[in-house]
Amino acid sequence: MTGWLAIAGLGPGDAALITPEVSAALSEATDVVGYAPYVARVGAREGLTLHPSDNGMELKRACDALKLAAEGRKVVVVSSRDPGVFAMAAAVFEALEASRKWQDVAIRVLPGVTAMLAAAARTGAPLGHDFCAINLSDNLKPWPVIEKRLRLAADADFAIALYNPRSTSRADGFGRALDVLREAGCGGRIVIFAHAVTTAKERIETVSLKDARPEMADMATLVIIGNSATRRVGRFVYAPRRAS
Ligand code: SAH
Repeated sequence: MTGWLAIAGLGPGDAALITPEVSAALSEATDVVGYAPYVARVGAREGLTLHPSDNGMELKRACDALKLAAEGRKVVVVSSRDPGVFAMAAAVFEALEASRKWQDVAIRVLPGVTAMLAAAARTGAPLGHDFCAINLSDNLKPWPVIEKRLRLAADADFAIALYNPRSTSRADGFGRALDVLREAGCGGRIVIFAHAVTTAKERIETVSLKDARPEMADMATLVIIGNSATRRVGRFVYAPRRAS
């Protein structure tokens, strides 16, 4: 049996947003590896072994998956939303780079709908012009780097998608990020708080940055800061296609 490894994104929550390519890989798989809540989204079936693991185990999980594939198993590493955006795909390539023993494993990355695209679609077209995405988690990068990127993004007048805005272990960072953006002169910009998009708990709130409070976000929230031209039209928010 020839093994393979697919790193697949399960989309933002709604099963209708799982791509046919990901569904096909899951139906051919012998093993599914991933963070327990994501593995739980894959139904058990005959011939499929589920390998749930805890948060923070990304590198070990990547090594386990590569080892299984090298042994001839058909392995899907499941990731939330898109596997290449602040998720498992980079961890698999870190594992591959660290040890040459898996270099012949057939690896595919199967995209999914990342949170910022699901959130943007819900509100209109806030990413309709130039934008960037910043992960506010300082687990793997120092906070001054985050502040610098926020300042430069504000200066360049990008719309900014903020992933991982706030968690119980990082309660203060998001408030500081809002302050950095206000100090950079963005107080009048539109901010979208998109919570648990495409799930039953979805909640969308749109406010002006000067009125944004840290408590409006949690770990299941994707925050979009509009650019200086982002505006409302009816119940929608969009970024015009032209910039001056
Ligand atoms: N790979 C994921 C991102 C992982 S980082 C992706 O492509 O979207 C986890 C962060 O993603 C969360 O803290 C939150 O900011 C965002 N996120 C993931 N799913 C979301 C959803 N359904 N609604 C809003 N934000 C979401």
